[in-house]
Amino acid sequence: MLTSVALVKGKNGKDLNEVRKMMGDLFALIGPASKIIPPNSRVLIKPNLTAEENLWEKGILTGPVFMQALVEEVQKANPAEVVIAEAIAIGLNTKKAFAANGYEEMARATGARLMDLYDGEFEEIKTPAGGLLKSVRVSREVWHADFFINAPVLKTHFASTLTAAMKNLKGTTTYNEKKRFHYLGLNKAVAELNAVLKPHLIVVDALIALEGDGPIAGTPVGLNLLLAGRNAVAVDTVAARIMDIDPAEVLSLSLAREIGYGIEEKEIQVIGNSIAEVRRPFVRACAPLQINLDQIHVMDGEACNACRNGLRIALGRLQAAGVSLAKLPGMNISLGPKGSFSESFSGIALPIGNCQNQYKHLPNYVPGCPPPAFLVADQLREILGERRKFGPKKDFIME
Ligand code: SF4
Repeated sequence: MLTSVALVKGKNGKDLNEVRKMMGDLFALIGPASKIIPPNSRVLIKPNLTAEENLWEKGILTGPVFMQALVEEVQKANPAEVVIAEAIAIGLNTKKAFAANGYEEMARATGARLMDLYDGEFEEIKTPAGGLLKSVRVSREVWHADFFINAPVLKTHFASTLTAAMKNLKGTTTYNEKKRFHYLGLNKAVAELNAVLKPHLIVVDALIALEGDGPIAGTPVGLNLLLAGRNAVAVDTVAARIMDIDPAEVLSLSLAREIGYGIEEKEIQVIGNSIAEVRRPFVRACAPLQINLDQIHVMDGEACNACRNGLRIALGRLQAAGVSLAKLPGMNISLGPKGSFSESFSGIALPIGNCQNQYKHLPNYVPGCPPPAFLVADQLREILGERRKFGPKKDFIME
């Protein structure tokens, strides 16, 4: 069955009046809000907020200009209420992200209500049988919303190739679930969550997108584009094509097919602008892993790019935080299914990723598939004798 993805290209994604016009054009393509949103609905919009600082103009998070235009368009359907709700990434505070990125002003201007989902309740939802998760705790506000709009920002991502519709749903879960996702296998967990949690509508903020080392350390791309659709797989497939990424490289999309809700590209109808009109190749988050420190040896045993990227980004984050990598002691880092320490090695052993779980008894083992960059950075902090920023490692290990 055909599913539509609408594209609307503009010129200035920071100008509220222009974005209002673009949003109006987008809803004209997908069906006016009054037709697709039942009257008196409680509408919940889930942005992607990934920073406590004012970074929306850097393409790191769903911007307030986009959100104001989206809320105003939704209000044309006479909803009972519009709630903008997020449960932000591990280590961050949702309310600070709202305050720093213009969401409070936008909420006052529109009458929308901001909600930190961590203040609410979560409900245990069964996930596909035979999978990793078995069940997942999802925000009750989201699960029971009359109309749920997923409103991510478009970015490349070191662990998932890209982040748009599918991955943004991780922000509807608890802190512990987010840790479990990383521990068990991020992309598979995201695919299983998307098998059971289906937004009524997806509207992607690609006004200011991000390329390179996403989700945070990338470079903004003024794409001035909006995407909308009702099927997350279709939206992410079209997003990948726009970024010049083969959808076959996006693991969550292949896993959706394995689970049984994938779709073929020929089943996607692109309306509005064409992909060819808006295509803009994105730099991937996969620069080579080069560590120019004599005391550090890396045993890369056919690791996925996600593990290599996590290590590279972790080292970059430490440097950006003012930590001198030259102070790191002699170290052997092993990653990938075929990575191993030689019997004669000396110095500290740092095994990274679930593929290294034969070394899980070692004090510096970092779990995860891939391990989040912040967890690798925390392990390096610990090796340097510094305080961990994201809490004890044992909190990320869930047998
Ligand atoms: S832990 Fe293994 S499978 Fe997972 S990302 Fe790393 S190398 Fe790949």
